[in-house]
Amino acid sequence: MTTVILLVFGAIIGSFLNVVGLRFNSGLSLGGRSFCPHCGKHLKWYELVPVLSFFVLKGKCFKCQSKISWQYPLIEILTALIFLSIYNLQYTIYNKIFLILAFCIYIVVLIYDLRHKIIPDRLVYSLIILSIVYRLLFGGTLLDWLAGPILFVFFGLVWLISRGRAMGFGDAKLVLSIGLLLGAAHGFSAIILGFWIGAGFGLLLILLLRGSKKITMKSEIPFGPFLILGAWLALIFNLDLLHVLSF
Ligand SMILES: [Zn+2]
Repeated sequence: MTTVILLVFGAIIGSFLNVVGLRFNSGLSLGGRSFCPHCGKHLKWYELVPVLSFFVLKGKCFKCQSKISWQYPLIEILTALIFLSIYNLQYTIYNKIFLILAFCIYIVVLIYDLRHKIIPDRLVYSLIILSIVYRLLFGGTLLDWLAGPILFVFFGLVWLISRGRAMGFGDAKLVLSIGLLLGAAHGFSAIILGFWIGAGFGLLLILLLRGSKKITMKSEIPFGPFLILGAWLALIFNLDLLHVLSF
């Protein structure tokens, strides 16, 4: 029963995070009713049920039949899974509340980065502050404190040397927060995993779009979403890749 409640609650929050991610910095308020971006029709309650509406309406607007982005159900499902998986960790309830809150902000970053290829300062600074508070409250080894700054310096150097081509400075701030929040073992694993998922995704994209001129090696794929997925997986699977890889 708890599982069902967590999944439903997570999907509802996910549907809210979709709206936050899309309206952030757009001048639109969060309070306004949801509407179809194509025909402007206000959505009825049965068009707003997380995950289900998308599939019942076959991914189309009820009125104008325009396609609705896959982003909506995917983010709702992802949020539901994040809620359930973090809740099931063997941590105190306070740890879990903090982590779930942080991941809600990470999801907004993920949506925004996918769309605009930039990570808003307001969001990433909130995450850095939240992560420092988390470390202060729950403690950690010296290396847990240093993981974030080490990753920040590494990403900052790559940004500097590649003159922003390999990755944005926003990614450096993002890994600072991930390292601080997750500590050494999970933090470093998150970044290694992020690289792997990103590389796998890049290869897949090249294979799928081979021949077409839609994409080149230089096509900009935002890195933030992969880092965030890596952070989630490293946390819930209790990974320590740095340890595994070095011994
Ligand atoms: Zn419409």
